[in-house]
Amino acid sequence: MSLKDHMNRFQSRTDNPDDARWREQLSDEQYKVLREKGTERPFTGKYVHTKDDGIYRCAACGAELFASDTKFDSGTGWPSFTDPAVAENVQLHEDNSLFMRRTEVTCARCGGHLGHVFPDGPDGCDRYCINSVSLELDPAEKR
Ligand SMILES: [Zn+2]
Repeated sequence: MSLKDHMNRFQSRTDNPDDARWREQLSDEQYKVLREKGTERPFTGKYVHTKDDGIYRCAACGAELFASDTKFDSGTGWPSFTDPAVAENVQLHEDNSLFMRRTEVTCARCGGHLGHVFPDGPDGCDRYCINSVSLELDPAEKR
């Protein structure tokens, strides 16, 4: 699915009224990124250089978001993926804040802010630029 088609499918933002629950469940850093759309400092996240196999889940609700085999080294300082693992689990929103036109990526299940997607990934793919604190790696079973 192209980025444009993907965006057309998801127009509405998930509102989450029970803010207190998130404050309790998430660390301060996670809250700042997931609920207040903050951005972790580049090269500080725990998954920037991770090459382990597994599924990256939403740190807030556990939804399956990205697979390790789409992760690539973008050199930007944030974990980067070419595609979501499950397209339905990720929502895209136009973001014109900070005087830049960007596309925000959120978790479709809980509405948590994950990062942004840019159309400049490898081989014509997209680049999902995701904050480490928004993710929790679920390691693949050792065989
Ligand atoms: Zn979530």
